[in-house]
Amino acid sequence: MPRGGARLLQGGPIATEIRGAVSEDVAAYRERHGRAPVLAVVICGRDAPSMVYLHQILRSCEKVGIEGVLVEIDGEASEASLVDAIVALNADPAVNGIIVQMPLPPTIRLRSVVDAIDPAKDIDGIHPLNAGLLRLGYDGFLPATAHAAVEILRRSGIEIEGKRAVVVGRSAVVGMPAAFLLVRENATVTVCHSRTRDLARHVKDAEILVVAAGHPGLIRADMVRRGVVVVDVGINVVDGVIVGDVDFEPVRRVASAITPVPGGVGPLTNALLLAHLVRAALGQETSVEAAADAPAVPPRGPRRLRSAVAATVPDPPVAGANRGLR
Ligand code: NAP
Repeated sequence: MPRGGARLLQGGPIATEIRGAVSEDVAAYRERHGRAPVLAVVICGRDAPSMVYLHQILRSCEKVGIEGVLVEIDGEASEASLVDAIVALNADPAVNGIIVQMPLPPTIRLRSVVDAIDPAKDIDGIHPLNAGLLRLGYDGFLPATAHAAVEILRRSGIEIEGKRAVVVGRSAVVGMPAAFLLVRENATVTVCHSRTRDLARHVKDAEILVVAAGHPGLIRADMVRRGVVVVDVGINVVDGVIVGDVDFEPVRRVASAITPVPGGVGPLTNALLLAHLVRAALGQETSVEAAADAPAVPPRGPRRLRSAVAATVPDPPVAGANRGLR
């Protein structure tokens, strides 16, 4: 372990690298199409924390040359009008990716909204088709935060294969996809949640610990084993300060590596969302080309993904991941 505590796994430099590759892909796309790829950000109601997150995404889009479009739906609007807006974005060939800011107003069913998004434009991997592709070990769109939690390990040179990994949290957008990604990386994974008995016992076993519970101070130093690698996904505001789910300073003294909050998973989530958007735009190019070519030539195999995307999309399915499908 480094003197003075664990190595800090900073998301910023990795995010900068990804954004650089995204900018190059965006410039090449613009040259081919005479326009930038477009991300539509749908917001329903003016929930303050998500507005901040939203504006961060739109600023990041601008920096890499992606056109970010804010689609504002009245917070009092019906579920049908939100779904109609999403359907219109699906049908618009100029829109390459769609994200819908959560949480939704309580009158709107999450499932109706999630189901309405075209899976090919679902760059935050929330549609059931993309969730299913991940579960089966195929490449779909990954939820950006879960992707970031594992990508920060990969890009920091942390060995995952064969390690005992514990994920605290089982949400559809963070905990579960992070667990599936770790399995794909050949870790042996335990998923804990609010009904887990003796959380500390499971956490103590972890060589890699991913925490996404939304509870500040949930993971204390006495709960973790010496040398553990900790990815803290939590974002909480305590007395006006942003903190994760891990009791950072004491745990840092025991761990071998740890992500800070802020500055760890967060910046990478943002950059990966942009990379997913580029991937969507390139995928749509391929399907338009394939449709145009259809009468004359047999369908071609998927085009190889270019730099930014290829660098961030997980490796092909691991051996055995599709067992039982044939
Ligand atoms: P969520 O939907 O509320 O899920 C929280 C999960 O943690 C649930 O599975 C819950 O268990 C589990 N949990 C809660 N309390 C627990 C406890 N005491 N012991 C063990 N497990 C417990 O939250 P989320 O959307 O997954 O987000 C998790 C955290 O990540 C939040 O702090 C959020 O702000 C943060 N986040 C960060 C980013 C980023 O870019 N860094 C992005 C998105 C979210 P049950 O299933 O049993 O309820």
